[in-house]
Amino acid sequence: MLGFGAGSSFEAVSDLIGAEQLYYRKGFGLKGEVSAELERAYHSDLVNRVVEGGHRLEVGGLTIRLAKEFGNCYGVDRAVQYAYETRRRFPDRRVFLTGELIHNPHVNREMLAMGIGFLTGRYQQDVSYEDLTADDVVLLPAFGAPTEIMRRLADIGCVLVDTTCGSVLLVWKTVERFARDGFTAIIHGKYYHEETRATASRALEQEGGAYLIVRDLAETALVTDYIRAGGDERPLAERFANATSPGFDFGRDLVRVGVANQTTMLMRETKAVEDEFRRAMADRYGEESLDEHFRALDTICSATQERQDAVLELLADPPDLMIVLGGYNSSNTNNLARICERVVPTYHVDDSSCIEGPESIRHKPVASEAEIVTTGWLPEGPVVVGLTAGASTPNNKVGHTIERLLACRGLEAPVPV
Ligand code: SF4
Repeated sequence: MLGFGAGSSFEAVSDLIGAEQLYYRKGFGLKGEVSAELERAYHSDLVNRVVEGGHRLEVGGLTIRLAKEFGNCYGVDRAVQYAYETRRRFPDRRVFLTGELIHNPHVNREMLAMGIGFLTGRYQQDVSYEDLTADDVVLLPAFGAPTEIMRRLADIGCVLVDTTCGSVLLVWKTVERFARDGFTAIIHGKYYHEETRATASRALEQEGGAYLIVRDLAETALVTDYIRAGGDERPLAERFANATSPGFDFGRDLVRVGVANQTTMLMRETKAVEDEFRRAMADRYGEESLDEHFRALDTICSATQERQDAVLELLADPPDLMIVLGGYNSSNTNNLARICERVVPTYHVDDSSCIEGPESIRHKPVASEAEIVTTGWLPEGPVVVGLTAGASTPNNKVGHTIERLLACRGLEAPVPV
């Protein structure tokens, strides 16, 4: 039995699941039954009130300005809801995630609390792929899963509940089309990110398909210099060892390239990466032959774009500082922090508890992987704090952060009249 329905991208996975395998990607119609649990775990009245107040809260000299678009996106809402529905639908079965459902520690801990295990990563306990049986239920996260994982799960025959976001499926289709037409997929993203690994694997579904992942403009320059001038490809092969398809040949595989991107990258950087490849291919093969050698499709998702646009709008009238809330491994949250830190002092926190008080805050600087503590972060006197949250941050976490900011000034959220 197959649980896909109209509008789903079943063709993207149809050859990756077993003929008799139970496969669901449209939920179980149990939204009403899980809505109370979702409300308890993720809802915030305070956030609703701040939104209704024009995304602004002013109390006792503290002004909090909340970005117009923030927090959970449609893909995350859907994935979280399906996870709760899955638990409800299969109360007596073991349920596992292939990895983090989304990049938010609170949500992943809620999964554990519901008895949903993790097969890999920091939340994994004592079960891995080797221990799975056909009776088990496996949830595929919002980022999707690489084709080798899909095939492994097909061999086991377990029940699959696929929460892959529709925007990610669009990237897969783009990359598959590039490969089908003989274009190497250049993916602007992080080679170790779950979504990018899943996307890259789709390029290999076509004969001769190849991919190369560039993280930023510096890596782009290394590749475009080679496209223009050729030379020794060994340093490149070493640099991109983890970011290229097996057997990647820089001489052979960079003659026709198509640029796509991880859905959560920085919009303006993605555009710059695309422009650099376009220029390099035009220099190498001539403007008149560009169509034969270059393609591009902006695959940044609308939720990412809206959150980046909203934070730019907020920064147009700069607050004194920004708090950016979201998982430290969340790509879109890190990119929001990158935008903010260019304008005002910015503190990327992964939970409201990072705001220890007016004297100290734990946060992850943009250029670092590690959390640090900064003292004296909150100026004396009247202060305007800008606040945004990444696309995998539930509203209750945003609400707790507002409460914590107020507490730094000995204040409480005003009670509605
Ligand atoms: S950030 Fe974009 S691609 Fe990722 S789950 Fe949300 S809507 Fe989907």
